[in-house]
Formats: sequence, C-alpha cells, structure tokens
Amino acid sequence: MKNAEWLRQLSSLTGLPYYQQHRIFGDTSGALIGVTDGYIVGLGLGKGNGGHAAVKALLRYAKTQDATHVQQALTPAAGKFKLTTDQTTATLVQTYSFGKPEATDVAERMRDLLAALKTSASPIDGKCEECGKAEPQILLLNGVPTRYCSGCQVQLTQKLDAAAIAYENLETNLPLGLLYGVGAALLGSIAWGGVAYLVHRIFLWGAILIGLFVGKAVVKGTGKVTWAARIMIGALTVASVTFGDSIFYALIRMNENLAFVPALKVVLLNFWKLESDSDGGFISALFGLIGAGVVMYGTRKPAFQARFVALGTPAITLSSAATK
Ligand SMILES: [Zn+2]
Repeated sequence: MKNAEWLRQLSSLTGLPYYQQHRIFGDTSGALIGVTDGYIVGLGLGKGNGGHAAVKALLRYAKTQDATHVQQALTPAAGKFKLTTDQTTATLVQTYSFGKPEATDVAERMRDLLAALKTSASPIDGKCEECGKAEPQILLLNGVPTRYCSGCQVQLTQKLDAAAIAYENLETNLPLGLLYGVGAALLGSIAWGGVAYLVHRIFLWGAILIGLFVGKAVVKGTGKVTWAARIMIGALTVASVTFGDSIFYALIRMNENLAFVPALKVVLLNFWKLESDSDGGFISALFGLIGAGVVMYGTRKPAFQARFVALGTPAITLSSAATK
C-alpha cells in the first residue's frame, strides 16, 4: 500500500487529520496531526535508527516533572514501538522491513497508548504550552506540533535572536585554548606511550579518549569554538597520539646504554619510518580523530531559530472538497 493511502486509512481509523504538506517525520507522504482527548498527537512514516523505514509517533502532554512515570505507564502499551519520554513528549518508533504494519494495528496501539497516557500525564487541553493561556490552534514549532500563543511566539523569537547575538559576541580565546590543548595532548601522549609500554599492546579506544580529552581541553580554553579551534583540536589530537607512539618506541629502545631522552631523539629522527612500518600507527591517529570529531560536532553553532508553521488545511478535506 502506498504511504499516502496508508496514512489516509490510519486517519479515518484514528480521527486524526492528515496533512500531506507537513513532513514532520521526514517522509514526503506527510503526517497525521491532531488532538485526542486533549493530547497532541503526531503520527506518520519516517526513518528509524540506521535508516530503517519506521512508523513514528509523538504523544504530547502538559509538562510533567516525572517523565519516568510516563515511561513506565506507557511501556506495557507500546508493543513493538520503541518508546522514549521527556517532560512533554513521548516519542515512539517502530521500524519495519517488509511492508508497513497494518493501519488497524497501529490505530489500536495508539488507542492503548493514549489510555495509558491518561493515567500518567495531564493533557495540554487547548492551552499555550508556555504560559497556559487559552490557545485554540495547533501549530508546528520547528516541526513539532504544539500550542503556542502569539505572545509567547514573539517572546521566543526575541529570546532566540538575543541568544544568537550573544553567541556571535562570545570571545574566542585561541591562545588559552592552545595552552590547555597542548597540556592535554602531552598528558595524552604520556598515558598512551606509558600504557602501551606497560601492557605491551595498544587500545584503539584509548586514542578516542585522547581525542575527547584534547578536544574538551581546547574548548575549555577557547570558549566559543571556531574553525581555527577545530583545526587545533584535530592537529593536537594527531600530535598527541603520534608523540605517544614515539614515547612508546623510546621506552622500548631504552636500556642501560641509552637513556630515555636520547632514545626519544633517535625515535623522532626516524619517526616516519617507524610509524609507517608499525601496524597501528596511522589507525590510532585516525581513532583519535574520531574522539576529536565527537567534541567538534558537539560544539557546532546552535540553531537559534524558532520556525512557526500553521497547520493549514488537512489533505483529506482538500481531496474530499476536490471530488465534490
Ligand atoms: Zn503563551
């Protein structure tokens, strides 16, 4: 069955309006968005973890302090849906491989979930989620269906604009970042070389830890992270792991006739040959960069944007109007 057809069927089973134009779960077929017993419900098709096709749903309730309580109440009703909850939203994802689940099954599952939700969270009931003022309309805030009054919309937009300006004005302290980064990289090298020498093997995940450690240190020093800081994180991570290798080689070569520092000198002079001859040299640097990458990704510029989109007219009404 085509996605749109399936959603149409699900729409008539659940009573939730079908909006072909709102791709809140990613799929071009759109989504069902509506209210059941005061709870805001979104239901549609999209992608689960690892890109699997999935049925997705959002159940939204009035803010609760106890999301685990909601989680516990909904779990028995979730069936094959994977459930996560936060203070305002239960997110459900059911991946499938061969054909979509029956719309009737999904509709029944939704009924059970909403029944369980009634026992554990209050409905939003026609009120602005922010200030509690009466708000008849549902709209999408960055793709999430919500009730948000016009006053709060203006406030949120202003707040985010101010946050964006404040972010732009943040200082980036590259020298301090470099100082912290070099310190962390040195500690990482010593730990890397020392552990490798003591246990006679290398742990690639150790390189990831070094990347994380160096990255965090640079971020602590610079404050706001710019491209220069990101390059610094990557370079220092590679330097830390490879210098750690050198420490390891020097420790191996050290003996009664050769102290550590001269041994290290010999190693550094022959560094490229040693590194390209060894099994793990470049791979460990690569693993270090994975750790560094995690930190870099975490410091990307936040999105200071609130996009409000009115729901408009559901597709079902549109098509039935067209056939009349
Ligand atoms: Zn409000």
